[in-house]
Amino acid sequence: MSEVSFDLIVIGAGPGGYVAAIRASQLGMKVAVVEQRKTMGGVCLNEGCIPSKALLDSSEHFALARDKFVSHGIDINPPTMSVPRMVARKDDVVKKLTDGIAYLFKKNKVQVVSGAGCLTAPQGDGLHRVEVTAAAGTTLLVAKKVLLATGGNPSKCRACPLMVKQSSAPRKLSVSVKCPSIWLSLAPGISAWSWDLSGGGLAPG
Ligand SMILES: Cc1cc2nc3c(=O)[nH]c(=O)nc-3n(C[C@H](O)[C@H](O)[C@H](O)COP(=O)(O)OP(=O)(O)OC[C@H]3O[C@@H](n4cnc5c(N)ncnc54)[C@H](O)[C@@H]3O)c2cc1C
Repeated sequence: MSEVSFDLIVIGAGPGGYVAAIRASQLGMKVAVVEQRKTMGGVCLNEGCIPSKALLDSSEHFALARDKFVSHGIDINPPTMSVPRMVARKDDVVKKLTDGIAYLFKKNKVQVVSGAGCLTAPQGDGLHRVEVTAAAGTTLLVAKKVLLATGGNPSKCRACPLMVKQSSAPRKLSVSVKCPSIWLSLAPGISAWSWDLSGGGLAPG
């Protein structure tokens, strides 16, 4: 298998990886980013910070229209909402930002290599090798330096045994902590509960 050489290989195109890759390239390094998702930006842009804030924004607008507009002399009686359009707007925000990272990579001459990266055993020549496996086949990258920016994986949480069976438990937990404020704004009749990570257990959200 032929090797493709770089000064730096970054594994993971989340906030940790993409900033480092772009900066390293701006400083003159030849940089590759290995990413196994189809889109750039990691958890934050694809399913974490950005989508949750986009939905929060929509729910806050709805709550303002329902609860506050009347006192300002604005009547929309009653305000209605379309969850599919809310979700479509969220998807659009996510797409613009993930496409934006791909654009920044291109602009800064960072090469994106799609697939799952795996460090191979050292060969004693002071170089690092990363094998990238994708549907199309396997590529071998070689570099003087490798940056692991692969994010985190959930670990078992003894405090919440109901969730330990699912490998995605902490991610679901984060969503459940944020979701109540989104859904409470939309429908005040909903009872929401969230898990207090400091050890307080379940509490009304
Ligand atoms: C619901 C939710 C809301 C959040 N809200 C906020 C917020 O408001 N503010 C905030 O600061 N943080 C927030 N976070 C946390 C934030 O998303 C993370 O801190 C951030 O994404 C971590 O960035 P990272 O680059 O370290 O890892 P990640 O974003 O996880 O990126 C790692 C990337 O590496 C890729 N990868 C992993 N292994 C490989 C491999 N072997 N080969 C190729 N690619 C690989 C993954 O596909 C991924 O794209 C939120 C998280 C969640 C779940």
